[in-house]
Amino acid sequence: MTSPTSTQAQTCAIRLGLSHSFAEQLPNSYQTCQPRSIAQPELLYFNHALAQQLGMDLSDLDQALLAGLMSGSVLSADARPLAQAYSGHQFGHLSPQLGDGRAHLLGELQTPTGERVDLALKGSGRTPYSRNGDGLAALGPMLREVIISEAMAALGVPSTRSLAVVGTGETLYRQQVEPGAVLARAAASHLRVGSLQFLALRQQSQELSKMVDYCLARHYPDQPCPQGTSPALHLLKLVMHRQIALIAQWYKYGFIHGVMNTDNMTLSGETIDYGPCAFLEAYNPEQVFSSIDQDGRYAYGNQAAIGQWNLARMAEALLALIAPEQDQAIALATELLQQYWPQWQQAWRQAMGDKLGLSQALPEDEQLIQDWLTLLEQQQIDFHLAFRALSSHLRGQEQELNKLFRQPEHLNAWLARWHERLQAEQLPDAQLAARLDQHNPYLIARNHQVERALSAARQGDLSPFERLLQALQLPFADQPEYEDLRQPADPRVTRQYQTFCGT
Ligand code: AMP
Ligand code: MG
Repeated sequence: MTSPTSTQAQTCAIRLGLSHSFAEQLPNSYQTCQPRSIAQPELLYFNHALAQQLGMDLSDLDQALLAGLMSGSVLSADARPLAQAYSGHQFGHLSPQLGDGRAHLLGELQTPTGERVDLALKGSGRTPYSRNGDGLAALGPMLREVIISEAMAALGVPSTRSLAVVGTGETLYRQQVEPGAVLARAAASHLRVGSLQFLALRQQSQELSKMVDYCLARHYPDQPCPQGTSPALHLLKLVMHRQIALIAQWYKYGFIHGVMNTDNMTLSGETIDYGPCAFLEAYNPEQVFSSIDQDGRYAYGNQAAIGQWNLARMAEALLALIAPEQDQAIALATELLQQYWPQWQQAWRQAMGDKLGLSQALPEDEQLIQDWLTLLEQQQIDFHLAFRALSSHLRGQEQELNKLFRQPEHLNAWLARWHERLQAEQLPDAQLAARLDQHNPYLIARNHQVERALSAARQGDLSPFERLLQALQLPFADQPEYEDLRQPADPRVTRQYQTFCGT
């Protein structure tokens, strides 16, 4: 193993079909800089299905060149690497100067279905925004991002995607000694609330306005701005809708993002930044896994409130563009943000209603949903197993659900109410059960299984990582061959489980 070096990447003749609308249209929001060269990059993971979806035909390339391209050690002829600038409220406190400290945007791919997708690297070396950081990433956190982002995508949750992981052959010192790695990531874009904040704080209102227009054109092309509404207010509204829909999906699948700073909230509505994230086991709305989230700011059940808080910061950044008079701008933004809670309530109700087989969850169903969750919380029952067992119950295999409950009498009282409500769906139990299975995964990425896969990978054995990733590709199908990956950890293990920002 060698220690990290900082020689710059070499360019080759290959073209990936990259274009550069962000670099061309928003020149005040980045600095160009080169990824570093790596002596012996080794391709550890390549997502062929995603490459195909992105329209990248790399099948003829040899592995060494692919490893070079996927780590930034070799640049395609059409790459134009840069580091994006952004600000961000981190745990409630404003950091005016953040930016990609260890990431490079290479450019944008045009997919066969006409979407524009960022191709970026993480762990690819220092940039003008690195501050005291080394610009590098460790293997464990990069493989973790692969597992969780790909699991989220398979669940149907909007997410940045993982294209490749390249080992650098170097050693890093983090929570533990770790091999170094670079992740190649695809995203609808890397624009975040913090990107707007960066320009607003510097009072670059023209550039800010251009970013608003850029964002609307790129992420919301089918949603024209109504007459008489400012583009900035329109964007705020659209981002609010997407974030509500996104966070409701997180609740649906028991996902805890862990670091919902404004620089980690996208304007596209994709989940980004898989650092200290983790899935719930026993249902507990106060669940936190991140080692640095001492006060539970980003606890499972607090994510909706943080979503609104972040949108309020976005509104502040856009205020000057929302209306010429500040009072009027504040009134318009406030009026919009007041719609957050009723819209959230509806999105959450339907997300949870789906899990109980309700085609249309009504306000009067909230009690049924809430009582079920309270039951899980009081008896400390695994969120995922409990929901999945509801379909077994409908199929007459009652044991699967009953065995999870220490006090089945409370369960039976709730089940009676649920059965009564299901009558309104007018479907036979077998069909209801099939519907439930589309919303309650058989498999999620269990924290202890993720850790197991990562420990093996650190020792050079990628097979548990590959098997887990494979299993998570079809999360809603019964896959008895992966039964061993389904079970939660011992509660004593989960109680002590901690996640870390991938720094
Ligand atoms: P995150 O918590 O991953 O969102 O990171 C917060 C900020 O720290 C971002 O601007 C990152 O680019 C930066 N950062 C994280 N790790 C490193 C590192 N090892 N070197 C330089 N910058 C980093
Ligand atoms: Mg981040």
